[in-house]
Amino acid sequence: MSKNCIAEPLDARPYCPRKTPRVRLKLLVVFILAFAALAPGASVSSVRWLADVKYLSSDQLKGRGDGSPELDQAADYIAEQFRKAGLEPVGGGYFQPFGAVVGADLGTQNSLVLLGSPDRSYRLNQDFIPLTFSDSGDQTAPLAFVGYGITAPEYQYDDYAGIDVHGKAVIVLRHEPQEDDANSVFRGKETTRHAALVSKAINARNHGAVAMLLVNDPLNHSDDRLVSFGGIQGPTDLGLQVVHVKREVVEKWMDQISRSLRELQKTIDRDLSHQSFLLPSDLQVKMVTDVRHRQAALKNVVGYLPGSDPALRNQVIVLGAHYDHLGLGEYDSLAPGQVGQIHHGADDNASGTAGLMELARLFAGDEHQVRRSLLFIAFAGEELGLLGSAHYVEDPLLPLDRTIAMLNLDMIGRVNKNKLYVGGVGTSPGFRPLLEEENDGAGFQLDFSDSGYGASDHMSFNRKQVPVLFFFSGLHPDYHKPSDTWEKQRPEETARVLELVARVVGRLDAAEERPQWVAVRERRRSSTPAGDEEAGQGYGPYFGSIPDFGETAKGVKFADVREGSPAAKAGLLAGDILIQFDGKEVRNLYDFTYLLRAKNPDDEVPVVVLRGDKEVRAVVKLGRRE
Ligand SMILES: [Zn+2]
Ligand SMILES: [Zn+2]
Repeated sequence: MSKNCIAEPLDARPYCPRKTPRVRLKLLVVFILAFAALAPGASVSSVRWLADVKYLSSDQLKGRGDGSPELDQAADYIAEQFRKAGLEPVGGGYFQPFGAVVGADLGTQNSLVLLGSPDRSYRLNQDFIPLTFSDSGDQTAPLAFVGYGITAPEYQYDDYAGIDVHGKAVIVLRHEPQEDDANSVFRGKETTRHAALVSKAINARNHGAVAMLLVNDPLNHSDDRLVSFGGIQGPTDLGLQVVHVKREVVEKWMDQISRSLRELQKTIDRDLSHQSFLLPSDLQVKMVTDVRHRQAALKNVVGYLPGSDPALRNQVIVLGAHYDHLGLGEYDSLAPGQVGQIHHGADDNASGTAGLMELARLFAGDEHQVRRSLLFIAFAGEELGLLGSAHYVEDPLLPLDRTIAMLNLDMIGRVNKNKLYVGGVGTSPGFRPLLEEENDGAGFQLDFSDSGYGASDHMSFNRKQVPVLFFFSGLHPDYHKPSDTWEKQRPEETARVLELVARVVGRLDAAEERPQWVAVRERRRSSTPAGDEEAGQGYGPYFGSIPDFGETAKGVKFADVREGSPAAKAGLLAGDILIQFDGKEVRNLYDFTYLLRAKNPDDEVPVVVLRGDKEVRAVVKLGRRE
């Protein structure tokens, strides 16, 4: 599962399991089938499943980071298991390759110089370091001090009020005003979204700055360590150069004009007063940043089991699970103190991948052959934003219009208190009763979600109108941490999950009619699981788009627009590309999220979208998250 489920920074409201108890529906609907459901002859082996989990989550595979050689080792292993099970290659092999940005490296050209006679140059890594999401570039610019670099209309606070920073390199303090003050308007001692480095960078760019020099704020942080390069995820097209500079470097500049960072911060924190100013124009920096986004070749692993029925075998059921994880936790680790350690990802998602292999063995070795074809896909790039499945649905190996359903396994190894979450049951009318019936034998306490959207790969299929089911045993404290290890897995319960999935596949296969896809009327929630940086913030504005994660073109492409949402009412459509919001440029999802959060429910916001090659203007009256 990708972290959007927890951090939920986007408008995409992914499916996250609710903590509320589910209302168990009485089984009222009897599904009438022409054929009895097929009970697979072979059975699921929890021993074999656990052996696969152990291997995939072992130190040897180093957390299966996207772009790592160890992920390729995992891919080879999965392909070999598919082959051994008797699955056939598709399109000439067991791999579907695709390219992705998986990280960043520092180039050789980085430099920072204070112009003067003589020039003063600073040392990379000791005095300054570019941020991972900095643009590469070469700028010479005068300086401006802009406090914390925050524009927060909700707190009547704006470091950029009354100052023009066009063409300037802005000096910005980290964190936020009154950080250590329980009564701070910035939500007391909690940090708000405004403290995020990406937020500060977007805000600087939106105000016309050409570069941002970030400096550790002196009052609450005696330590002056530079951030580590590679540690912060952000856009790859920010439109601004960003470096982190040592405090002593900036203090020396301030000295020259008889100012002090510490005093400036004290004054701001005392009464939130505006302390921004332009430095004398003869103080100029020349800044060269050289950040190389690391492209990697990733691959989905695929295996095909042809159906036995001449009339039905051209229909396909996709079974999927992502096999990538966080590697050493460079990105998206929820254990920031343990970045650099192996994030084992036993539950996320060695459990689902091993389950996928086990189901492949089960069905391929089954004497009762399936009538329809099965396609098993282990996805890469999920943790970076569902990249593997997004690639697959854009470039499917078997036609999507003949793909009758997609079943996704992501984190299925830790069934707790007999509870199993099943998402996507609203994407086809028969799904919920079918699950209820098949669960009669399995006896799980099922927690259903209708939504076909969510922080995992089934979402890519749902947005292409393929009915989806998402099996998930729930979040736990080891999620996205090195401590997500195999000993915490529950093999017996997981075998039962897999048997349930197998029976569901059997039922879909036995039915004469393929399941019909329906659009789910999405419920909106503002309450999210612990860990949400906005938790406790209350109600935010609601727009109603589903961004397309697989899209890298400039702007934000809408995979979908929710029915009845503010975006839909304003006439926006799936496929539109948002390029302007409230008069500001939107280059990517980070920009859109930043701008949306600055608004309030009921605000009327002008937007510009690209529809084909036409620019379409609209005014969206924002709603309220419920
Ligand atoms: Zn996952
Ligand atoms: Zn994950």
